[in-house]
Amino acid sequence: MDCIFCKMAARAIKVDPVVETDRVMVVKDINPQAPVHLLVIPKTHYASILECKDMGVLGEMMEAAVTSAKKLGVADPGFRLSINTNDEGGQTVFHLHMHLLAGRPLSGRLG
Ligand code: 5GP
Ligand code: ZN
Repeated sequence: MDCIFCKMAARAIKVDPVVETDRVMVVKDINPQAPVHLLVIPKTHYASILECKDMGVLGEMMEAAVTSAKKLGVADPGFRLSINTNDEGGQTVFHLHMHLLAGRPLSGRLG
């Protein structure tokens, strides 16, 4: 298995999820771009959102993001969700994931 997020899902490496369901896990980003920077990761491997036709798992990712935002106290102040896709979208890990950024003003900045 060559994929870092598959290894996390299989517990081949140590993880301490903020939120976890049967199909999704939420972990802290190793290189945070904001005081709160989480990754919402489906346990099934999809190289990007272009490969994922499962609206159920995408819905669960959204639900896990909202649950995590509430759990970490950033739902009310606000947060941003983004899914980087392919090279020009800034994707570097080719296992579908959604970023949750919060804890500093993000308005007007998409990068
Ligand atoms: P992308 O650039 O593909 O949208 O996002 C990949 C993210 O995964 C980056 O923000 C990067 O810091 C994070 N990342 C890469 N390797 C690891 C890891 O081993 N553990 C965690 N928690 N995050 C990682
Ligand atoms: Zn994977």
